[in-house]
Amino acid sequence: MTEHVKSYYAASANTHAPFPSLDEQLECDVCIIGAGYTGLSSALHLVEKGYSVVVLEAARVGFGASGRNGGQIVNSYSRDIDNIEASCPPDQAKLLGSMLFEGGDIIRERIKRYDIQCDLQQGGVFAADTERQLHELKAQQRRWQKWGNDQLELLDKEGIRQVVGSDRYVGGLLDKRGGHIHPLNLALGEAEAIRSQGGRIFEQSAVTSIEPGQPALVRTAKGAVKARFVVVAGNAYLGNLVPELAGKSMPCGTQVIATEPLGEERARQLLPQNYCMEDCNYLLDYYRTTGDHRLLYGGGVVYGARDPADIERLIIPKMLKTFPQLADVKVEYTWTGNFLLTMLRLPQFGRIGHNIYYMQGYSGHGVTCTHLAGKLLAEALSGQAERFDAFAKLPHYPFPGGRLFRIPFTAAGAAWYSLRDRLGV
Ligand SMILES: Cc1cc2nc3c(=O)[nH]c(=O)nc-3n(C[C@H](O)[C@H](O)[C@H](O)COP(=O)(O)OP(=O)(O)OC[C@H]3O[C@@H](n4cnc5c(N)ncnc54)[C@H](O)[C@@H]3O)c2cc1C
Repeated sequence: MTEHVKSYYAASANTHAPFPSLDEQLECDVCIIGAGYTGLSSALHLVEKGYSVVVLEAARVGFGASGRNGGQIVNSYSRDIDNIEASCPPDQAKLLGSMLFEGGDIIRERIKRYDIQCDLQQGGVFAADTERQLHELKAQQRRWQKWGNDQLELLDKEGIRQVVGSDRYVGGLLDKRGGHIHPLNLALGEAEAIRSQGGRIFEQSAVTSIEPGQPALVRTAKGAVKARFVVVAGNAYLGNLVPELAGKSMPCGTQVIATEPLGEERARQLLPQNYCMEDCNYLLDYYRTTGDHRLLYGGGVVYGARDPADIERLIIPKMLKTFPQLADVKVEYTWTGNFLLTMLRLPQFGRIGHNIYYMQGYSGHGVTCTHLAGKLLAEALSGQAERFDAFAKLPHYPFPGGRLFRIPFTAAGAAWYSLRDRLGV
């Protein structure tokens, strides 16, 4: 049995009944591999449209990045729309631009419709360490306003000091359409919503093979599912199940700590409005306070998803750089999780043959885009593929160096960007 990784989220998860493991032969319209947000959002949109759906999860619902992440509802994609506008035909860029803020809206709609208790808070801030980053945030504000987000506020040095108890930043951009959630409780709530709509979820049911065909046959150790469509949603935890996908992305680990509860007063000295924060560096820090007033602080990237020898040694200095006043605070939880990086830092959606679909590679910013992915997948299977295809047409480049050398190559690239951030150029 593979349980949730020991984290603050697992320790504070809402009570939930486990799902059975698959030990029979089933038939359905759509078989989904993976119960993270990509798989869950797909399943929920599909059952709402009347499809019969089976979700197969190797471990537990939210076992992967979806149950371990920073909980930040970050709008747009991991690479912003200017990059897409510069490289895509205008019609495709227009469609992708029109979806920039939809993922966050989907999350809020799910929380409301299914009454999911996951500590939803409004507002997220991008914090600038340097004038160059602040200049870029001004451009981002213009771009996002152009695409319909009128809830943005640029913060100067004084302004950002009002939203974070740190002298570190020169300014920032507040997005009131951003926000944060308890990510595992969101995943668990979505799984319950699927169950309530007649969808079937199986945990401890790792998929061992997919036989293409009409129907396709998806096998686990003790069962099998015949399905008209298959959705591959294993992201950074997929391994080599689908060789076509393995070479064009790279699992990366990022680490998180949660302090002891600080008490409401001390937590509000750090983040008075309870916004979540991320900085603008390539290897970024992200942090927020939790429902029970802990500081949850993440950062660092370990390419190739190796476990760091000591997460505290890696993250505590980052936390103290931002909040030196926390030197006396104890850390109660540390964990690591994998996200999936792509060469372009844009998500990869597509089809293998005509009835195996995949969505993956959100490159560190996936809370909103995974929710959008599920909606677009359900549209595509019901005959409206235009918006899914706007993503599917983005190029999927393999990492240079192949499976052997992609880690050192990418780590060297990251080191360069990180140096650039530190120099402020
Ligand atoms: C530590 C961390 C912090 C992050 N913070 C943020 C943040 O604050 N904001 C943000 O926007 N993004 C963040 N991200 C990224 C975001 O969490 C991910 O992009 C998103 O959760 C990916 O969801 P997913 O469903 O595609 O993948 P996952 O959540 O990883 O789910 C994949 C699932 O597939 C299952 N699976 C794999 N192979 C098989 C198989 N063969 N059979 C059955 N099941 C299988 C896995 O067990 C897993 O449960 C963070 C990521 C990490 C790791």
